[in-house]
This record gives sequence, C-alpha cells and structure tokens, in this order.
Amino acid sequence: MIYLDSAATTPISKVVGELLLDSYEKIFGNNSSPHIAGAIAAEYLKEARDSISSMFSIPSNAITFTSGATESANSIIQGYTNFLKRSKSGRNEIIVSEIEHPAIYNTVEFLEREGFIVVRIGCNEKGQVEASQIQGVLNKNTAMVAIMHVNNETGVIQPINDLAKRVKDYDPNIMFLTDTVQSIGKLPFELDLKLVDAFFVSGHKIGAPKGIGFHYLNPRFRAIPLIIGGGQESGRRSGTVNVVGAYLLSKALEDKYRNISANLRHAELLRTLLIRMLSESSSIDCALTINHQDRSPYINSIAIKNIRSDILVEKLSEKGICVSRKSACSSHSHNKSRVLEGSRVPSGLVDHILRVSFLPETTEEEVIEFVKAIEGILQF
Ligand code: PLP
Repeated sequence: MIYLDSAATTPISKVVGELLLDSYEKIFGNNSSPHIAGAIAAEYLKEARDSISSMFSIPSNAITFTSGATESANSIIQGYTNFLKRSKSGRNEIIVSEIEHPAIYNTVEFLEREGFIVVRIGCNEKGQVEASQIQGVLNKNTAMVAIMHVNNETGVIQPINDLAKRVKDYDPNIMFLTDTVQSIGKLPFELDLKLVDAFFVSGHKIGAPKGIGFHYLNPRFRAIPLIIGGGQESGRRSGTVNVVGAYLLSKALEDKYRNISANLRHAELLRTLLIRMLSESSSIDCALTINHQDRSPYINSIAIKNIRSDILVEKLSEKGICVSRKSACSSHSHNKSRVLEGSRVPSGLVDHILRVSFLPETTEEEVIEFVKAIEGILQF
C-alpha cells in the first residue's frame, strides 16, 4: 500500500511502535489509585505532562489530556462560552474563519443555534485570513476568535501571531484559539503564547495512537468542564485518564521535534518531486491550487483536470494508493467543499482536487509510483 493521506490520520510511528507493548504492560494502573500500580501510572502521566510543558513552554496545569482534537475544541469553545453565559458577561460573539475544520466550525454553528452570534470570515486569494478583516468585526461583545494554523485540505498556513496580535491590541480579554492539529509536530513551534490563548493537538495525526490528544488553555480563561465525573485532570476533564496514550503522545512529539527540520526538508523535497513529475507528464493536465510560500509541504492540494477526483480516488485505491479529495470528516458529504470555496480555489477545479499528504516516512519512490499510477489510469 502507498499511503499519501497523512492529513486524515497516520500509522503509529516507529518510536511509538517500539514503546507500545511495553507501555501497555507497565502502565496499566489507574493514576488516581493509592497503590504502587497507580503510582507508576501517575509517574508516567507526570512525565508526559512535564515533557509537553517544557516542549511548548507552557505551565503543566494548563495542559488537559483529552480523546483528541474534536473533544478539545468542544471543551474550549463550549466550556468558555458556558462560563461567559453563567457569568452574564454580555460577550456573545464568536469570530471564525470559513475554512475551519468541523470540530470548530460545527461547534460554533451549534452555539449559534443557542443564541450566540457567529461572524464567519473568508480568505484572500492566497487562502489566508487577513488581520484587517478580523479588525473590522471586533467589538465589545466579541468573546473569542478561532482561526486554524494549517488548513487540513489546502495546507495553507495562517499568519496566526499577526492575527492574534490584532485581536489582543483591540482587547486582551478576547480569547484567541488556534487549531494546530496539522502544524504541531510538523512545523517548528513559533506561536507567540503571549497572544495565543489556546491550541490543541491530536495524537493520531502525528504517529501516536487514536483516542488521545491534549489542549492548552491559558489559565487566565475559565472554561466550565464538558465532562463531569470523578474530577480527573484537576476537574477539567473527568474520566480515567488514558495514561499510556498520554505517554505515547509525548514520545511521538519528542520524536517529531527532534527531527522537525529534517522531516520538513524531506517533505519539501517530496513536494518538489511531485510537482515536477506532474508538470512534466505528457498525459496529466494538472493545476496547483496553492503554490505560494505560506503553506505546509505535508499537505498538497492538486487538481488533475483530466478526471474527476472522486473517480480518481477510487481508481487509485484499487491500485493500493490512498489519497483523498478533502478532509476525511467531510468526505461523506456530497456538498461542494466549504473549505476549498472559502480558500478561493477556482470553482471549476473543485471537482478535480486531490489532497496528497505526506508522512515523514513517505519515499520518493512512492511519489513516483503515485504519478505513474495516475498516468496509467488516464490511458484507459
Ligand atoms: N482539526 C483539524 C485541522 C483536523 O485535520 C482534524 C482531523 O481531521 C481535527 C481537527 C479533528 O481531529 P480528531 O480526529 O482528533 O478529533
């Protein structure tokens, strides 16, 4: 199999695979238990939290382990807006971009039905949100602004620090949240946490198992917990903690940041090869939808104009090659992609878009084989 869909999910990485069995054997206790098995689990959980805390220079009490990004987004957004409602703050407006993942987009849409005002911001022709657009809609009722870091369909990087600065210059009490699922562990961590109040990570996008993630929330902002129960994670998220998951997530992250520059160079090399092969092919009529500097080389949005992408994805799959049209979460919807349209991808290309996303382990041979497979499909 050739797997070129890392934006949807990743297999566990080598480092994590080597630790997996041993971790499940060693760390089976409940970290809240008062005996030695519990103490061992508590020790591993502390190690994981401390590692993440120093990696991102964030206080360990601002890290909450969750089941992944969707839960994290809901905990932050619903937790904070519930707090605002309870405290009768009067702040009832949320600003989001048109290109957010459903984890954020649909959560704020839910809140809109509950009475919040949601302001949706489009992108310029580069697929980026402009600070001036945010500035234009900020007001005294703005509760939070959520703009994702790297888009999961196009790979476009948003200028998060600039956007957050504009918000904080206007009013430091507005929460600035960014979805970092497709950037953390892939791009050097450069978020300015004096400006950005919250971000979250999903293990299964970076070589850790599914069902684990964490979020950072600046302790200055209160959020009412979504999951109530035994008070784990200092009351922020009840339920027995997935300690093995947290430990493996921290190890996956350590591995990613150790190799971040080399992995990034490799992804750039693969992207260059992909583009060169596609453009040199005599049978493929290809358009690059995003081809500027502010994009992640891990996620490549290409349009093969000769064939509709739903057909191509199916035919490639028959050959054992996995790519996708858009995000896995929206692949069952037949609607046009909100994200591609919001990113100003020309409407004539939308039905032809493939998302080709690399792993650090993806090889040049796999990219070559992928392009040859498309050529083979187009011959028939
Ligand atoms: N945000 C982005 C940008 C994503 O790509 C994804 C996964 O597709 C999510 C959020 C949701 O992640 P999870 O599967 O951990 O809930």
